[in-house]
Amino acid sequence: MTYSPTKTIPFTGSPLNRCENLRRDPAAMEALRQSDRALFVPFWRDQVFVLSNGTPAVLNGAALQDLNVQNPGPVLLGTQGKNDQPWFAFLIDEHEDCTDDFPLTGLGEWTNLRTAAPLFSAADLAVIGRATALLGWHNRHRFCANCGTLTTAAEGGIKRECDNCGTEHFPRTDPVVIMLAERDDHCLMGRQAGWPENTYSALAGFVEQGESLEEACAREVGEEAGVTIGAVRYVLSQPWPFPSSLMIGLIAQGLSEEITLDDELEDARWFSRDDVRAMLAGTHAQFHAPMSFSAAHHLLKEWSDEG
Ligand SMILES: [Zn+2]
Repeated sequence: MTYSPTKTIPFTGSPLNRCENLRRDPAAMEALRQSDRALFVPFWRDQVFVLSNGTPAVLNGAALQDLNVQNPGPVLLGTQGKNDQPWFAFLIDEHEDCTDDFPLTGLGEWTNLRTAAPLFSAADLAVIGRATALLGWHNRHRFCANCGTLTTAAEGGIKRECDNCGTEHFPRTDPVVIMLAERDDHCLMGRQAGWPENTYSALAGFVEQGESLEEACAREVGEEAGVTIGAVRYVLSQPWPFPSSLMIGLIAQGLSEEITLDDELEDARWFSRDDVRAMLAGTHAQFHAPMSFSAAHHLLKEWSDEG
Protein backbone atom coordinates (compact mmCIF):
# COMPACT_ATOMS: atom_id res chain seq x y z
CA MET A 1 0.00 0.00 0.00
CA THR A 2 1.31 3.45 -0.85
CA TYR A 3 -0.07 6.79 0.15
CA SER A 4 0.10 9.62 -2.35
CA PRO A 5 0.76 13.20 -1.20
CA THR A 6 -2.33 14.15 -3.22
CA LYS A 7 -4.53 12.03 -0.95
CA THR A 8 -5.27 14.56 1.72
CA ILE A 9 -4.93 13.58 5.35
CA PRO A 10 -6.32 16.25 7.71
CA PHE A 11 -3.72 18.91 8.65
CA THR A 12 -1.80 18.30 5.39
CA GLY A 13 -2.15 19.94 1.97
CA SER A 14 -1.34 23.53 2.89
CA PRO A 15 -1.75 25.88 -0.10
CA LEU A 16 1.02 28.15 1.24
CA ASN A 17 4.57 28.43 -0.04
CA ARG A 18 6.75 28.19 3.08
CA CYS A 19 9.25 30.79 1.72
CA GLU A 20 12.36 29.08 3.11
CA ASN A 21 14.75 31.28 1.10
CA LEU A 22 12.89 34.56 1.53
CA ARG A 23 13.01 34.18 5.31
CA ARG A 24 16.75 34.87 5.37
CA ASP A 25 16.26 38.29 3.70
CA PRO A 26 15.23 40.82 6.42
CA ALA A 27 14.18 43.48 3.87
CA ALA A 28 11.94 41.04 2.01
CA MET A 29 10.47 39.85 5.31
CA GLU A 30 9.65 43.41 6.33
CA ALA A 31 8.03 44.06 2.92
CA LEU A 32 5.76 41.05 3.42
CA ARG A 33 4.89 42.22 6.92
CA GLN A 34 3.98 45.73 5.66
CA SER A 35 2.14 44.56 2.53
CA ASP A 36 -1.45 45.81 2.16
CA ARG A 37 -2.38 42.29 1.07
CA ALA A 38 -0.98 40.57 4.16
CA LEU A 39 -3.45 38.50 6.18
CA PHE A 40 -3.05 37.83 9.90
CA VAL A 41 -4.70 34.87 11.66
CA PRO A 42 -5.44 35.67 15.32
CA PHE A 43 -5.07 33.15 18.14
CA TRP A 44 -5.97 33.70 21.77
CA ARG A 45 -5.53 31.29 24.69
CA ASP A 46 -5.10 28.25 22.38
CA GLN A 47 -8.21 29.18 20.45
CA VAL A 48 -8.90 30.28 16.89
CA PHE A 49 -11.71 32.69 15.99
CA VAL A 50 -14.29 30.88 13.85
CA LEU A 51 -16.66 33.05 11.80
CA SER A 52 -20.31 32.07 11.63
CA ASN A 53 -19.75 30.63 8.11
CA GLY A 54 -17.30 28.09 9.58
CA THR A 55 -14.07 29.68 8.32
CA PRO A 56 -11.15 30.92 10.43
CA ALA A 57 -11.00 34.70 10.87
CA VAL A 58 -8.21 36.76 9.33
CA LEU A 59 -7.36 40.40 10.00
CA ASN A 60 -5.47 43.00 7.98
CA GLY A 61 -2.33 44.72 9.25
CA ALA A 62 -4.19 47.84 10.40
CA ALA A 63 -6.31 45.81 12.82
CA LEU A 64 -3.17 44.62 14.61
CA GLN A 65 -2.39 48.12 15.84
CA ASP A 66 -5.32 47.95 18.26
CA LEU A 67 -4.36 44.54 19.67
CA ASN A 68 -1.80 43.58 22.26
CA VAL A 69 0.28 41.06 20.30
CA GLN A 70 2.25 38.58 22.40
CA ASN A 71 5.89 37.55 21.82
CA PRO A 72 7.13 36.66 19.21
CA GLY A 73 4.77 38.91 17.19
CA PRO A 74 3.35 37.77 13.85
CA VAL A 75 5.04 34.64 12.45
CA LEU A 76 5.13 34.07 8.69
CA LEU A 77 3.15 31.00 7.63
CA GLY A 78 3.93 31.53 3.95
CA THR A 79 2.60 33.11 0.79
CA GLN A 80 -0.32 32.04 -1.36
CA GLY A 81 -0.99 32.08 -5.08
CA LYS A 82 0.63 33.75 -8.05
CA ASN A 83 0.59 37.16 -6.37
CA ASP A 84 2.31 35.80 -3.25
CA GLN A 85 -0.24 36.94 -0.71
CA PRO A 86 1.49 36.81 2.71
CA TRP A 87 -0.13 34.88 5.57
CA PHE A 88 0.92 35.48 9.16
CA ALA A 89 -0.37 34.16 12.49
CA PHE A 90 -0.12 35.83 15.88
CA LEU A 91 -1.08 35.38 19.51
CA ILE A 92 -3.11 38.02 21.31
CA ASP A 93 -1.80 38.57 24.84
CA GLU A 94 -3.40 35.96 27.08
CA HIS A 95 -4.18 38.62 29.69
CA GLU A 96 -6.46 40.49 27.27
CA ASP A 97 -10.16 39.78 27.55
CA CYS A 98 -11.18 39.07 23.97
CA THR A 99 -14.61 37.70 24.83
CA ASP A 100 -16.25 41.11 24.45
CA ASP A 101 -13.46 43.31 23.09
CA PHE A 102 -12.22 42.03 19.73
CA PRO A 103 -12.68 43.57 16.25
CA LEU A 104 -14.83 40.64 15.08
CA THR A 105 -16.92 40.14 18.23
CA GLY A 106 -20.45 39.22 17.17
CA LEU A 107 -19.34 37.67 13.88
CA GLY A 108 -18.19 34.35 15.32
CA GLU A 109 -16.56 32.90 18.43
CA TRP A 110 -13.25 31.77 19.90
CA THR A 111 -13.06 28.00 19.52
CA ASN A 112 -10.69 25.23 20.51
CA LEU A 113 -9.10 23.75 17.36
CA ARG A 114 -10.30 20.21 18.18
CA THR A 115 -13.85 21.55 18.06
CA ALA A 116 -13.28 23.75 15.02
CA ALA A 117 -11.34 21.19 12.93
CA PRO A 118 -14.37 19.38 11.45
CA LEU A 119 -15.77 22.74 10.27
CA PHE A 120 -12.70 23.81 8.29
CA SER A 121 -11.82 23.09 4.66
CA ALA A 122 -8.75 20.90 4.13
CA ALA A 123 -6.67 23.94 3.13
CA ASP A 124 -7.79 26.03 6.13
CA LEU A 125 -7.16 23.13 8.50
CA ALA A 126 -3.61 22.69 7.19
CA VAL A 127 -2.85 26.41 7.63
CA ILE A 128 -4.45 26.68 11.07
CA GLY A 129 -2.87 23.43 12.25
CA ARG A 130 0.62 24.59 11.37
CA ALA A 131 0.00 28.00 12.95
CA THR A 132 -1.25 26.34 16.15
CA ALA A 133 1.83 24.12 16.40
CA LEU A 134 4.25 26.97 15.61
CA LEU A 135 2.75 29.57 17.95
CA GLY A 136 2.43 26.96 20.70
CA TRP A 137 6.13 26.14 20.34
CA HIS A 138 7.13 29.82 20.63
CA ASN A 139 4.93 30.18 23.70
CA ARG A 140 6.43 27.16 25.47
CA HIS A 141 10.08 27.56 24.37
CA ARG A 142 10.94 31.17 25.05
CA PHE A 143 14.15 30.45 26.95
CA CYS A 144 17.40 28.90 25.71
CA ALA A 145 17.57 25.23 26.70
CA ASN A 146 21.37 25.57 26.79
CA CYS A 147 21.88 28.63 29.03
CA GLY A 148 18.45 29.84 30.15
CA THR A 149 18.54 33.24 28.43
CA LEU A 150 15.39 34.66 26.79
CA THR A 151 15.67 33.90 23.06
CA THR A 152 14.55 35.87 20.00
CA ALA A 153 12.44 34.64 17.07
CA ALA A 154 14.23 34.74 13.71
CA GLU A 155 13.51 34.15 10.02
CA GLY A 156 9.83 34.97 10.34
CA GLY A 157 9.40 32.68 13.32
CA ILE A 158 10.68 29.31 12.08
CA LYS A 159 13.45 29.34 14.66
CA ARG A 160 14.67 31.11 17.82
CA GLU A 161 18.19 32.31 18.51
CA CYS A 162 20.07 32.83 21.77
CA ASP A 163 22.03 36.11 21.83
CA ASN A 164 24.02 34.91 24.85
CA CYS A 165 25.43 31.54 23.75
CA GLY A 166 24.59 31.54 20.04
CA THR A 167 22.47 28.39 20.06
CA GLU A 168 19.74 28.12 17.42
CA HIS A 169 16.49 26.45 18.44
CA PHE A 170 14.09 24.91 15.94
CA PRO A 171 10.47 23.84 16.46
CA ARG A 172 10.36 20.24 17.66
CA THR A 173 8.25 17.51 16.15
CA ASP A 174 7.70 14.40 18.25
CA PRO A 175 7.21 11.09 16.39
CA VAL A 176 4.25 9.00 17.56
CA VAL A 177 3.48 5.53 16.24
CA ILE A 178 -0.22 4.81 15.84
CA MET A 179 -1.04 1.27 14.83
CA LEU A 180 -3.52 -1.46 14.18
CA ALA A 181 -2.45 -5.01 14.92
CA GLU A 182 -4.34 -7.32 12.51
CA ARG A 183 -5.10 -11.00 12.98
CA ASP A 184 -7.67 -13.31 11.31
CA ASP A 185 -9.38 -10.39 9.56
CA HIS A 186 -9.77 -8.46 12.81
CA CYS A 187 -7.89 -5.41 14.09
CA LEU A 188 -6.96 -4.44 17.64
CA MET A 189 -8.29 -1.22 19.15
CA GLY A 190 -8.46 0.11 22.67
CA ARG A 191 -10.04 2.86 24.70
CA GLN A 192 -8.92 5.07 27.59
CA ALA A 193 -11.15 5.77 30.54
CA GLY A 194 -11.68 9.48 29.78
CA TRP A 195 -12.87 9.02 26.20
CA PRO A 196 -16.49 9.35 25.04
CA GLU A 197 -18.41 6.20 25.90
CA ASN A 198 -17.89 3.21 23.57
CA THR A 199 -15.28 5.02 21.45
CA TYR A 200 -12.34 2.84 20.41
CA SER A 201 -9.20 3.83 18.53
CA ALA A 202 -5.84 2.57 17.31
CA LEU A 203 -3.17 2.12 19.98
CA ALA A 204 -0.49 4.82 19.97
CA GLY A 205 2.62 5.98 21.76
CA PHE A 206 5.69 8.19 21.50
CA VAL A 207 8.81 6.79 19.87
CA GLU A 208 11.59 6.70 22.46
CA GLN A 209 15.28 7.43 21.95
CA GLY A 210 17.22 4.54 20.45
CA GLU A 211 14.08 2.98 19.02
CA SER A 212 12.96 2.33 15.43
CA LEU A 213 9.32 2.81 14.39
CA GLU A 214 8.93 -0.98 14.24
CA GLU A 215 10.38 -1.41 17.75
CA ALA A 216 8.16 1.36 19.16
CA CYS A 217 5.13 -0.28 17.55
CA ALA A 218 5.98 -3.70 19.04
CA ARG A 219 6.69 -2.22 22.48
CA GLU A 220 3.48 -0.18 22.65
CA VAL A 221 1.19 -3.02 21.51
CA GLY A 222 2.95 -5.35 23.94
CA GLU A 223 2.79 -2.92 26.88
CA GLU A 224 -0.78 -1.71 26.38
CA ALA A 225 -2.52 -4.91 25.24
CA GLY A 226 -0.08 -7.78 25.79
CA VAL A 227 -0.22 -8.73 22.11
CA THR A 228 2.91 -9.86 20.25
CA ILE A 229 3.38 -8.51 16.74
CA GLY A 230 5.42 -9.56 13.70
CA ALA A 231 5.88 -7.67 10.43
CA VAL A 232 5.04 -3.96 10.44
CA ARG A 233 4.07 -1.93 7.37
CA TYR A 234 3.84 1.83 6.93
CA VAL A 235 0.51 3.31 5.83
CA LEU A 236 0.37 7.09 6.36
CA SER A 237 1.62 10.03 8.39
CA GLN A 238 -0.05 13.14 9.78
CA PRO A 239 1.20 16.31 11.48
CA TRP A 240 -0.80 16.59 14.72
CA PRO A 241 -0.69 20.05 16.35
CA PHE A 242 -1.69 19.00 19.89
CA PRO A 243 0.95 20.15 20.55
CA SER A 244 3.62 19.07 18.05
CA SER A 245 3.51 15.42 16.98
CA LEU A 246 3.99 13.56 13.74
CA MET A 247 1.62 10.60 13.76
CA ILE A 248 3.04 7.59 11.88
CA GLY A 249 0.28 5.16 10.95
CA LEU A 250 1.27 1.49 10.81
CA ILE A 251 -0.41 -1.90 10.40
CA ALA A 252 1.24 -4.78 12.23
CA GLN A 253 0.82 -8.53 11.95
CA GLY A 254 -0.64 -9.85 15.22
CA LEU A 255 1.13 -13.02 16.33
CA SER A 256 -0.93 -13.58 19.48
CA GLU A 257 -4.59 -13.01 20.31
CA GLU A 258 -5.03 -12.91 24.06
CA ILE A 259 -5.31 -9.37 25.45
CA THR A 260 -3.69 -8.32 28.73
CA LEU A 261 -4.39 -4.68 29.61
CA ASP A 262 -2.00 -2.31 31.35
CA ASP A 263 -3.05 0.79 33.30
CA GLU A 264 -3.27 3.03 30.23
CA LEU A 265 -6.28 1.35 28.64
CA GLU A 266 -9.71 0.71 30.10
CA ASP A 267 -10.45 -1.90 27.44
CA ALA A 268 -9.09 -3.35 24.20
CA ARG A 269 -10.66 -5.81 21.80
CA TRP A 270 -10.48 -7.23 18.29
CA PHE A 271 -12.88 -5.72 15.73
CA SER A 272 -14.03 -7.22 12.41
CA ARG A 273 -13.90 -5.24 9.18
CA ASP A 274 -17.71 -5.01 9.23
CA ASP A 275 -17.50 -3.54 12.74
CA VAL A 276 -14.93 -0.98 11.60
CA ARG A 277 -16.90 -0.01 8.48
CA ALA A 278 -20.04 0.55 10.54
CA MET A 279 -18.11 2.53 13.18
CA LEU A 280 -16.61 4.79 10.49
CA ALA A 281 -20.04 5.28 8.93
CA GLY A 282 -21.52 6.10 12.33
CA THR A 283 -24.04 3.25 12.04
CA HIS A 284 -22.60 0.73 14.52
CA ALA A 285 -25.14 -0.27 17.15
CA GLN A 286 -22.65 -0.01 20.01
CA PHE A 287 -19.19 1.35 19.14
CA HIS A 288 -17.87 4.68 17.83
CA ALA A 289 -14.80 5.44 15.67
CA PRO A 290 -12.21 8.10 16.57
CA MET A 291 -12.63 11.70 15.35
CA SER A 292 -12.86 12.15 11.57
CA PHE A 293 -9.79 14.40 11.45
CA SER A 294 -7.54 11.98 13.36
CA ALA A 295 -4.84 9.74 11.89
CA ALA A 296 -6.54 6.75 13.56
CA HIS A 297 -9.74 7.38 11.62
CA HIS A 298 -7.87 7.34 8.30
CA LEU A 299 -5.78 4.34 9.29
CA LEU A 300 -8.98 2.44 10.06
CA LYS A 301 -10.44 3.50 6.73
CA GLU A 302 -7.41 2.16 4.87
CA TRP A 303 -7.56 -1.13 6.77
CA SER A 304 -11.29 -1.58 6.24
CA ASP A 305 -10.89 -0.87 2.50
CA GLU A 306 -8.29 -3.63 2.17
CA GLY A 307 -10.66 -6.49 2.96
ZN1 LIG B 1 21.78 30.28 25.20
